[in-house]
Amino acid sequence: MTQGSTRRIFVAAMATETNTFSPIVIDRTAFEESFYAAPGMHPSTATLCTAPIPVGRKVCAEKGWDLIEGTAAWADPAGLVSQQAHHGLRDEILAQLQAAMPVDAVVLGLHGAMVAQGCIDPEGDLLARVREMVGPDVLVCAELDPHSHLTAKRVSAADFFVVFKEFPHTDFVDRAQDLWALVVGRLEGRIHPVMSTYDCRMIDVFPTSREPMRSFVDRMIAIERDDPKVLSVSAIHGFMAGDVPEMGAKMIVVTDGDASYGDVMAERLGQELFANRGKHMMPTMDQTQAVAAAMAASTGPVVLADMWDNPGGGTAGDATVVLHELMIQGATGVAVGTIWDPIAVKLCMVAGEGAVMSLRFGAKSAPMTGNPVDALVKVIGVSADAAMVFGESVVPFGPAVRISLLDEAGQEIGIEVILNTVRAQSYDPSLFLVMGIDPLAQKILVIKSTNHFYASFAPIATQVLYCSAGKPYPNDPATNTYRNVRTDIWPRIDNPFAQDD
Ligand SMILES: [Zn+2]
Repeated sequence: MTQGSTRRIFVAAMATETNTFSPIVIDRTAFEESFYAAPGMHPSTATLCTAPIPVGRKVCAEKGWDLIEGTAAWADPAGLVSQQAHHGLRDEILAQLQAAMPVDAVVLGLHGAMVAQGCIDPEGDLLARVREMVGPDVLVCAELDPHSHLTAKRVSAADFFVVFKEFPHTDFVDRAQDLWALVVGRLEGRIHPVMSTYDCRMIDVFPTSREPMRSFVDRMIAIERDDPKVLSVSAIHGFMAGDVPEMGAKMIVVTDGDASYGDVMAERLGQELFANRGKHMMPTMDQTQAVAAAMAASTGPVVLADMWDNPGGGTAGDATVVLHELMIQGATGVAVGTIWDPIAVKLCMVAGEGAVMSLRFGAKSAPMTGNPVDALVKVIGVSADAAMVFGESVVPFGPAVRISLLDEAGQEIGIEVILNTVRAQSYDPSLFLVMGIDPLAQKILVIKSTNHFYASFAPIATQVLYCSAGKPYPNDPATNTYRNVRTDIWPRIDNPFAQDD
């Protein structure tokens, strides 16, 4: 520990979520385009996994402690991280930590589902190298996204983890505050956090906007509040598109020095999750049902989520299955936000606002995303640098165009599409507004998101429909073609705990 009452704490962030099935490799540029802040350059607002930095600034300022900031980097989810980008960021952060030594604590913002070329557990690798550098007595901890892989390597290298409880992730700042409260308590010698974990041996999707997960999250919060032995409770949901050996749902309980108490509680909570397996996912419709249901609604906007073509889960976001169905069924009053197609955007921008042209767009990235759409279109609007807002964050979606689909006579058919160049999940209705489309005036809003959209879109929606269309994403763990995920895990087998008896 450093001298006197002051403390020296190093903080950095390295995060992305790797869909190992995605063809899009993440290089250094992809981090720089999504979010990259050199030491000291992080903005005052948090961006998901970087929340420990701005929160840490406030905490350390109040305490009069020294916060040494390292790099913060986040890449929008896609496929494998290139080895060069992975090693570059890792070594950059480790060199910053080395220069900052001696420190009393290392606090990291990690996502927890990164996979790099030649490295199946980059966060475990980073934490192990940090631990080796600082030794056994310095506090090492991190905030994680629940869509992550809790590997044994990470658990053994870190003192504890705090994980976002909500999905949609509305609580990343709150959880960073929780993390820092544990850091302060431990450095002031008031608490002695120890981490217990439990492997639920299951893969599932756990939206907290609905039951049974809503009550489970509320209870985790109640336990933290009411049980004096428990400092923190987290659920790792796991990430089914990451084909790694330790993928799956896990429980974390951090107690005040009572590991055996934590072990029992982690198992009890984990078995509750397991008992509800298969009941967590939202009910879904295929594209035929979803479009028919949306058209049958008396008032709009009906929000139709193309839930598996979610750029936030690493897909391209260029699937056209739902759009084709809308055209087949003759839907009108439709706005689609967004379809990723940089080439089509460029063609439309060159043609300019008001241009009428034949355009082929969408469905170029991967199989099972539908077919490209060939249509006569009118370019209604262009933006050289479009962005939506999401809470306090700004999410860019790059140069973008708004097109209206026309029939052979040149009449608008009632379907408008936003084409974009920077892949981005449809977080917020502001993505339509910035392109000049009033979302409240539409009958049907088609968006690309699994559940993050819910917090922003549900308040304006007359209905929310979850549509499972095509298979741009490995969305069925029972049949996904995994090579690394263990086989003794539900739903790959019916009851992985049966063989323990
Ligand atoms: Zn997540």
